[in-house]
Amino acid sequence: MRNLVLVFGDQLDDGSAAFDGFDRDLDAVLQMEVREEASYIPQHKRRIAFFFAAMRHFRDGQRAKGRRVFYSELGDPANRGSFTGELQRRFAELKPGRIIVIEPGDWRVGDMLLRSNLPIEVREDRHFLCSSQTFGSFADGHPRLILETFYRFMRRRLDILLDPDETPAGGAWNFDTSNREPFNRKKAPDIPPPLRFTPDTVTREVLNLVAREFPDSPGRLDGFDLPVNRGHGLALLEDFAAHRLKHFGRYQDAMAGGEPYLFHSRLSGPLNLHMLSPREVVDAVLANPSNAPLNAVEGYVRQVIGWREFVRGIYWRHMPGYAGNNVLGADLPVPRFYWTGATDMRCLSEAIGHTIDHAYAHHIERLMVLGQFCLLLGVRPYDVHRWHMSMFWDAIDWVSLPNALGMSQHGDGGLVGTKPYAASGNYINRMSDHCRRCRYNPNKATGEDACPFTTLYWDFLARHRTRFAKNARMKYSYLNLARKEPGEVKLIQRQADALKAKLTADTFL
Ligand SMILES: Cc1cc2nc3c(=O)[nH]c(=O)nc-3n(C[C@H](O)[C@H](O)[C@H](O)COP(=O)(O)OP(=O)(O)OC[C@H]3O[C@@H](n4cnc5c(N)ncnc54)[C@H](O)[C@@H]3O)c2cc1C
Ligand code: SF4
Repeated sequence: MRNLVLVFGDQLDDGSAAFDGFDRDLDAVLQMEVREEASYIPQHKRRIAFFFAAMRHFRDGQRAKGRRVFYSELGDPANRGSFTGELQRRFAELKPGRIIVIEPGDWRVGDMLLRSNLPIEVREDRHFLCSSQTFGSFADGHPRLILETFYRFMRRRLDILLDPDETPAGGAWNFDTSNREPFNRKKAPDIPPPLRFTPDTVTREVLNLVAREFPDSPGRLDGFDLPVNRGHGLALLEDFAAHRLKHFGRYQDAMAGGEPYLFHSRLSGPLNLHMLSPREVVDAVLANPSNAPLNAVEGYVRQVIGWREFVRGIYWRHMPGYAGNNVLGADLPVPRFYWTGATDMRCLSEAIGHTIDHAYAHHIERLMVLGQFCLLLGVRPYDVHRWHMSMFWDAIDWVSLPNALGMSQHGDGGLVGTKPYAASGNYINRMSDHCRRCRYNPNKATGEDACPFTTLYWDFLARHRTRFAKNARMKYSYLNLARKEPGEVKLIQRQADALKAKLTADTFL
């Protein structure tokens, strides 16, 4: 054998650089299901099933093209159970001249390849619109690197939504102020039913395997309907562009009870496993078949060519040290109810419920409910990332770590976001219908019915006064804190301490 092309579960693209020059008479493909990856942290059953089902469909697609595929199934008694062990076994068995792989999405896996002492050629991952080198040069030239500058650079570089004189279409680079409407059922448009993909034989086998092998993993497997091949991904993209995009911008930040998806695309899974390319996703949105307003189109494009590429750039520029960042010195564990949803805080039980049922929560639930509560409580940022890696179908290290540890926990001191995403319960009250059905009162910081978000918000501001009081973007928060009597702040802090002790006394990990 000449080349063995190693394809990890998040690299399911046969147009990747790993397949350049592939000769089916000389080369073969290797894919590995390994227990270590599915259990080094407890993983949501749906997440494991999504990865394995997508990998097996990719395998079958390659075989249909006449390619030889060596596929290590989890249940194979010869399977050594770890990437390193399985790679060594396959190398000894197949004796290829070299192993070819594209850059892994996890620093830890790249490090494992480096240490393996095997003849491995690592090729660039062309899936992304900005290589690590290009990002590095851009960051070198912009010591105060923020998303907005990077996003404008990407818009110009890719020639997206620009007028002929290279100014932004519609006269502004972003229309965020039009994208903060709460979802009010009385005047809101109908939410199109989510596209569901009925499991075929291959997926059903995987579902049985996961149910059998991972009975104690968190999350639900029943009703599995995720997209597990490129055809499914394309159908989801078409559905989004035709039926959801027009309201995506307006309700981008909204939350509603019993509505996990609203007008979000659910394309992060197919994108992160490389079933779809970001360029084709953006092109489908720019084609705009439903004549969606510019704030929706621009809002979506910004997520994909801006945020997605930005967090990846930050990850590769700052790893491996990035994972250890904890500038706020947060030292509490993730509360146990994050794994079960058993809490009387309505917003959290909704967001955790969506996560348990679908391995999905949309961005504002992740940032302003799930993430924010950990930030205010003072949970270790890396543990918040680990929880995300456990629970979400779309979590890969390069994207989860900067979002969870950086954006949501401010553990990196402001590399991803210039201020912490901290707000009182009033923000959640404005953006959702949760507080109306909650036993707590978002306006109250003390007392039996005080909203824990509100109590912890004031406590957070007081606790981190030295670090944040001079941050221009937090000026009004600190002016409001200054208006409180010292006695009131003391009472809030006492209530916050009691909450922290109570909520983190019981943990899962
Ligand atoms: C704490 C936290 C953890 C997160 N963890 C992940 C993760 O593990 N995997 C992941 O793909 N996204 C993650 N995100 C980003 C974002 O929340 C998800 O990409 C999005 O919710 C996926 O759902 P969707 O496809 O319906 O997104 P939509 O709202 O439809 O957005 C469109 C696309 O834009 C991209 N996108 C949007 N925001 C981001 C972002 N901040 N970073 C990277 N890509 C973005 C995604 O590819 C997404 O599919 C996280 C965000 C936070 C705050
Ligand atoms: S009152 Fe507080 S805990 Fe209850 S739903 Fe609103 S923000 Fe969440």
